[in-house]
Amino acid sequence: MRAMVLNEPKRPLELRDVPKPKPGRGQLLVRVSTCAVCRTDLHVLDGELPNPKLPLILGHQIVGHVEEIGEQICEGPERRDSRGTKAAPTFAIGDRVGIPWLGWTDGDCAYCRSGRENLCDNALFTGYTIDGGYAEFTVADARYCFHLPERYSDVEVAPLLCAGLIGYRSYRKTGDARRLGIYGFGNAAHLIAQIAIYEGRELFAFTRPGDKATQQGAKELGVVWAGGSDEMPPEKLDAAIIFASVGPLVPAALCALAKGGIVVCGGIHMSDIPSFPYADLWEERVITSVANLTRRDGDEFFEIAPRVPIRTLTQTFPLEEANIALDRFRAGKLGGTAVLTIAK
Ligand SMILES: [Zn+2]
Ligand SMILES: [Zn+2]
Repeated sequence: MRAMVLNEPKRPLELRDVPKPKPGRGQLLVRVSTCAVCRTDLHVLDGELPNPKLPLILGHQIVGHVEEIGEQICEGPERRDSRGTKAAPTFAIGDRVGIPWLGWTDGDCAYCRSGRENLCDNALFTGYTIDGGYAEFTVADARYCFHLPERYSDVEVAPLLCAGLIGYRSYRKTGDARRLGIYGFGNAAHLIAQIAIYEGRELFAFTRPGDKATQQGAKELGVVWAGGSDEMPPEKLDAAIIFASVGPLVPAALCALAKGGIVVCGGIHMSDIPSFPYADLWEERVITSVANLTRRDGDEFFEIAPRVPIRTLTQTFPLEEANIALDRFRAGKLGGTAVLTIAK
């Protein structure tokens, strides 16, 4: 099969003919239709995340169809969460399937046992520690895959699998904050803003200073205020989400918070955070991060996404142009989320 392979970080991906994977126990063999490009792919490519599998096939926002099913796992693995258990999804040959970042957990560590599989000590991640979707085929553990809402095409739904899903986890961490700021108005922000507005939040968009085009786009989406990340909003915020991987935004966001407010860092990688006066944190302000996703996040998100309905902005590239898509993403020259189109 054709695949775009990362041989080592900081080198372009190489188009190669590699063996088609075989589905193991509990796995699906999936013919990949589309795979959206995530900023995390850039972090892996640029060597900013430690110990990737090498050589590696990147990509963790995968949409495809089930081609073959490995030996079934009989004991009925369960989706544990604080509200009880939910049966794992079942798939048949030909079903459309979404494959996210969280590829496997042990189900047995202290985190898994307490409903926090996103923090699992032994988790495997798609397109990072196991092969992903920049290829014609991939295999995935069926228990971590999702059925996708029918209203979306394979291209439209791909960005929901990470930007949407992990963005949603960041959003949920803000609780019932009425005034919500978002720093870094890229793919994840664009999707989450639609849910926040749908749920009646007042949204404040912070972009790179002077980026009037993005501020205008945010206003058209329905935010109450848009400005540069060096500006103070007209009112104090109950919460802020930072999607940009820029550490100095943390103390900046903290200064924009009302008492008891929370700053949620939604990225997997960020530059160093500069020091700041304790007074900025005092009065019960909180700084937290979001790591990965749980399957419950996915179940909730794919339930709400078509109700809003969340619309995605995409720009497609054929598989062999993955390096071009990644370069344009890094340079901020995309008109939407880059989606690799692989099978028709
Ligand atoms: Zn675990
Ligand atoms: Zn991602």
